[in-house]
Amino acid sequence: MEALYSLCDRFSEFSVSSQWRSLLDLYLLIEKETTEFQKTYGVACPPGCGTCCEHFVPELTDLEASLIGAYLLFVKQDPSVVARLAAFEASSGMCPLYDPDSPYHCTVYPVRGMICRLFGACPSDDKFGNPLFRKCKYNTNGDSPASLDARDFGTDTTDIPTMRKLSVQFSALEPIAATLPIADALLRSFSRLQFIAAHMGSDSHDDDNGGSDPLVPTPTPLAS
Ligand code: SF4
Ligand code: SF4
Repeated sequence: MEALYSLCDRFSEFSVSSQWRSLLDLYLLIEKETTEFQKTYGVACPPGCGTCCEHFVPELTDLEASLIGAYLLFVKQDPSVVARLAAFEASSGMCPLYDPDSPYHCTVYPVRGMICRLFGACPSDDKFGNPLFRKCKYNTNGDSPASLDARDFGTDTTDIPTMRKLSVQFSALEPIAATLPIADALLRSFSRLQFIAAHMGSDSHDDDNGGSDPLVPTPTPLAS
């Protein structure tokens, strides 16, 4: 997370920087609350599981996409992702940022979007607005409860993080948020980030030929 907040500092002259910072703050809060929820109720995915990502192409808002795009271009410094995403076939049904060969699977884990943080990690609401957790259908962890409801949560559910509560906080950051499939959303964000990087002046660096590569504004990655 330190590298990501540093990224916000580097782009501080652009308004998107403060939006990234607010989103990172929310991601930290979600991490804290869902981790506490999972610990309290014994909810856990099997180690190394990433099956949901093999069967899911998430959608992203502009803000989610711009943070992931900035992470790929300026922190991981992987401009090759642009061509990979342009060639992505949505009909494959698998998230284009999923790496089956990596034990961590998600190649953008620190900045993954909201749905990727909430799915399988916290309850949704039942038809009466009460928290209701159901274990993901791919979860083979026999120690994780199949479902949790009012009998488990009791009457005071103010501390239970639900998808609705956390999504409301997310909506406050980006009130009118249309979404696009992840590859389209990222390709759009790359165009905007390229524009921003091109206007960073001294933060852009010269390449080996003495030219400027606006997609790689510093020679040293902040993190891998
Ligand atoms: S962004 Fe990461 S966590 Fe989300 S579906 Fe893709 S690989 Fe999975
Ligand atoms: S949510 Fe389900 S599929 Fe995704 S990692 Fe957890 S158990 Fe696996």
